[in-house]
Amino acid sequence: MSNEKLEKAALAILAGADSGAAFLRGLADRRVAPDQDAISSMKAMDDVLPDRKIDPEKVLAQLTRFGSPAAAASAGGRFFGLITGGALPAALGARTLASAWDQIVFNDATSPIGIHLENIASRWLLELFDLPAESSVGFVTGATMANFTCLAGARQAILQRQGWNVAAQGLNGAPPIRLVASDEAHVTILKAISLLGFGTDAVERVPCDLQGRLRVDALPSLDENTIVLLQAGNINSGGIDPIGDICRLSKNTGAWIHVDGAFGLWAAGSPTKQYLLEGYEQADSWVVDGHKWLNTPYDCGIAICRHPSAIHAAMATQAPYLKAGELAAPKDMVPEFSRSARGVEVWAALCSLGREGIAELVDTCCDHARAFAEGLLNQGFEILNDVVLNQVVATLPGKEHLMSEIAAAVRASGEAWFGPTTWRGREGFRISVSSWVTTKADVDRTLLAIARAKQDICSA
Ligand SMILES: *Cc1c(COP(=O)(O)O)cnc(C)c1O
Repeated sequence: MSNEKLEKAALAILAGADSGAAFLRGLADRRVAPDQDAISSMKAMDDVLPDRKIDPEKVLAQLTRFGSPAAAASAGGRFFGLITGGALPAALGARTLASAWDQIVFNDATSPIGIHLENIASRWLLELFDLPAESSVGFVTGATMANFTCLAGARQAILQRQGWNVAAQGLNGAPPIRLVASDEAHVTILKAISLLGFGTDAVERVPCDLQGRLRVDALPSLDENTIVLLQAGNINSGGIDPIGDICRLSKNTGAWIHVDGAFGLWAAGSPTKQYLLEGYEQADSWVVDGHKWLNTPYDCGIAICRHPSAIHAAMATQAPYLKAGELAAPKDMVPEFSRSARGVEVWAALCSLGREGIAELVDTCCDHARAFAEGLLNQGFEILNDVVLNQVVATLPGKEHLMSEIAAAVRASGEAWFGPTTWRGREGFRISVSSWVTTKADVDRTLLAIARAKQDICSA
């Protein structure tokens, strides 16, 4: 016997999925950046709060009519801005199903399946990254919050060793903690540092080499009160800090080594790229984004820590101690109390790809990045980074002031999407390949759009 209310919900899921399918089917042929018409039309929704109820079909019809055309085609194959990834079929389907489940992943009573899938996904991630099986894995909104989570754990552990429980006693009067990060550390690491009350001014900055990798020879001496913030994957160059060298140097100092590998850590999944991460498994905590290179939908960041009890002490809403080997409730391992079953999409992505598919996804994106670099070189561009991963930074020697205009012209053409950047004091543009959807044809089409924009702007 069907229930009228639930039937309405079922119809709404179908309508949303239907409309989403139409959106995806249209992506290959449409502009990447929405056109001005679509941007203007979406303003039709900007009305006062309705007085009366509106049927779900009508609500969804508005989203389909005004929303889909005004969405950036970042789920398509020619969006190379930021490092956005894509959404794998299994992960998209899983998200839709999990939306219907509407689980609260709080503990195993509130969502047996949500917790079970997160536990499997956690174990698979540790197997893939070859990290200690006892490490904790927390599912958060993105690398920003994953960095926050790991650094809160680091702070807790370092101060605990000095008999200071920062969760209870706060930072006022606490023994000092040193923070060491490279000049190229991602802005969100600095945000995590400021949110945690350390203050960004306190960070000891270390210069980088030409690829934006922390220079080991410039590393200050480390001690047991230091957190070292390393990066696997510079957002411009893709450069990965020499993590193994630094871990070996810090051995026996008691320093906490943290690795922000938002996209770069996925290189560990490729037998041909994992050499770039040599020694990363010796660190204390690691961050990686599901929504970047694993291609789960947004929002999905992952915080991994070798010392689960430190994370637990920082995040738990009850007794802040975890017995060895005990699996903590999700609410006690991440900042959020209530949240969706993010691990479902991670599980689906990992399940559908397997080790082979992850390696292929990483390698294919890197191949496309190299094809971009070659194509751009042929057009007279200079490539400013070693293209060892999925990132390409290019400029036109002598015409660097036009690079932002060229990138804007490509975006305006609707053919592709990427943005300007500054790399080692030179203006250029940056292309990041991180979606399973991108093909060689997308690369060629984008190169053609770049050639046209360059011609128009440079001959103007
Ligand atoms: C993208 C990125 C971040 C921030 O990740 P969000 O998922 O946007 O929070 C942090 N560090 C690095 C190296 C990144 O590439």
